[in-house]
Amino acid sequence: MKSKALEKKDPFQKLSILSVAARYDNSCSSSGGRRETHPYGIGNSHLSGICHTWTSDGRCVSLLKILMTNFCIHNCKYCINRSQNEVPRAILTPEEIATLTVEFYRRNYIEGLFLSSGIYKNPDYTMELMLKAVKLLRYKYYFNGYIHFKLMPGASRELVEKAFRLADRVSSNLELPTEESLKRLAPHKNFRKVYQPLQIVREVYEEKQLKAPASTQIIIGATPDTDKTILKLSERLYSEKIVRRVYYSAYIPVNRDTDLPAIKEPPFLREHRLYQADWLLRFYGFKVDELFEESENLPLEVDPKLFWALRHLEFFPVELSKADYYELLRVPGIGPLSAKKIIQAKKYGELSEITLKKLGVSLKKAKYFITLKGKRLAKILKSEAKNFEERQLTLFKESLKYDRGTN
Ligand code: SF4
Repeated sequence: MKSKALEKKDPFQKLSILSVAARYDNSCSSSGGRRETHPYGIGNSHLSGICHTWTSDGRCVSLLKILMTNFCIHNCKYCINRSQNEVPRAILTPEEIATLTVEFYRRNYIEGLFLSSGIYKNPDYTMELMLKAVKLLRYKYYFNGYIHFKLMPGASRELVEKAFRLADRVSSNLELPTEESLKRLAPHKNFRKVYQPLQIVREVYEEKQLKAPASTQIIIGATPDTDKTILKLSERLYSEKIVRRVYYSAYIPVNRDTDLPAIKEPPFLREHRLYQADWLLRFYGFKVDELFEESENLPLEVDPKLFWALRHLEFFPVELSKADYYELLRVPGIGPLSAKKIIQAKKYGELSEITLKKLGVSLKKAKYFITLKGKRLAKILKSEAKNFEERQLTLFKESLKYDRGTN
């Protein structure tokens, strides 16, 4: 490891290397913190105090998102920072990380810090350095802002617990959904090792009732793993409360390797469909098996909820005045907010198209799947189903075109 590069570079040179090196990590959700600031502190990790902006592919902006170092002893085949790559390397000292964060915060550039790292020497050594930076922020600079801390696979329980206590959010990337895929592309890792930090956080969370559990990231399309395999894993992680959130990251080819797929474009549309399906699992009461009746992968042409509805026309039309919350959520175009409004409105009188309009419930898509006082608002024809699919694809392509410009 060429560590002589460490001290030579000035912090801003290092920063430009290490912020670029960090951009492949999606798992930086800044919501969920509730800690108020104290009189002599700066920053404020409050639900509404953290500004976070999401691009369509799930990347979060507004945090100082850096690696402590892009030196790494591992050689994961999909990773730009793998040990065999000849890339500019740098490492920030704990003091540099702390002062950069505070200076950026004071200038109003950022709301908080997302700190990750390559494995430098070994997982514990890396975590100790990262923890030093966070301790400086918390205890020397009284930085009370948001900190997202990436846990290193293989780190000791004691350090994982410390990180969990100091940070607002922690995450540990599973990266690939199966043991076989890890063996193939990340031979230094195994499922037990990458899963362990999440398990520890879950245990500490349960014992001490501290903050929220962690998040994780899974790379999409670097291995032949199907959407069903990936979402089955997410379903398990959610049901066991191991993570609050799974982030899906379209595989971006940065290295050449015979074990990696030869693709021209990262599978952003697939990533987008996985996020939609994930949403259905978390908020709509769907089970993974319901989304995969015909194939092991989600359809790309149409969103998974509409796809399910078009194949379950026996479930429709849903009579709005009689449907319960979860029946409403099955209707394409009706989300949790609209469903809640409809349930509330029913308590006060009969529903009509005008009432729904006033409530802000859009019937554009839903009208094909509902009745109001027994009356159908529109019939779904084969040609309509086809239109849905084409329109969805066009809309996705349009939004991707604009959103990617902001990245
Ligand atoms: S351990 Fe992390 S930083 Fe190191 S090569 Fe693997 S993915 Fe990259």
